[in-house]
Amino acid sequence: MPELPEVETSRRGIEPYLVGERIRKIIIREKRLRWPVRADVVKQLTDQTVTTVSRRAKYLLINTGNGSAMIHLGMSGSVFIVDRGTPASVHEHFDFDLGSGKTLRYRDPRRFGSLHWTRDPAKHKLIRSLGPEPLGDSFSGDYLWQRSRGRRVNIKQFIMNANIVVGVGNIYASEALFLAGINPHRAAGRVSLQRYELLADVIRQVLQQAIDAGGTTLRDFYGGDGEAGYFQQALSVYGRDDEPCKQCKRPISVVVLGQRSTFYCKNCQR
Ligand SMILES: [Zn+2]
Repeated sequence: MPELPEVETSRRGIEPYLVGERIRKIIIREKRLRWPVRADVVKQLTDQTVTTVSRRAKYLLINTGNGSAMIHLGMSGSVFIVDRGTPASVHEHFDFDLGSGKTLRYRDPRRFGSLHWTRDPAKHKLIRSLGPEPLGDSFSGDYLWQRSRGRRVNIKQFIMNANIVVGVGNIYASEALFLAGINPHRAAGRVSLQRYELLADVIRQVLQQAIDAGGTTLRDFYGGDGEAGYFQQALSVYGRDDEPCKQCKRPISVVVLGQRSTFYCKNCQR
């Protein structure tokens, strides 16, 4: 599943092809994505010029003088650039045909992704209640500590809750909790400010490392320039059940928390 680092990698991959380009034509081949693609996407964005390409949580935002296209990659989506007229396969659901002769193409075999037009992404119902960006200025250990007081939910589900902080997917939550030495079962309200400060630091660190590495490719992600990114080799606990802990050599454990596989060291994480 594309996580925040892959979305950021995609943003960086497509940005140079889009900024300053006119959207000549939008071709929707399949409207049945996670939410039906509405006609306003084509109506509002055709003939607009792309000013910037940004990201909020896992939404790619193609911004113009008349609002933004909001693209979510869902479980299996990817965006990439092809030459105009390149035949589309059955899983390639929409194109933004650009003045340059290039086309931004969206592929999504499982169709859990989405495409919306919005005048103001920050006010869109899918975005407005989201927590801060983990790599932004309003995310900190103090923020996590404040939000967690009185919360009995386990720390792993707490940091994976997009209303608390966006973009901490299952892999990154396991990795960050290992690096912070925090047991994933621990109640969020029972983690000290000092430990939250370390946790916020390592969350930023694991996400930044993944972005730097071009994102993970546990599934079928390709960057906007067609380059696959790799991050698995740098993982400390995720997917390493029964393998020796990199700190203490005891076997890594796996449990299911909130229906997600959770990897941790019983010895190093308290
Ligand atoms: Zn250990």
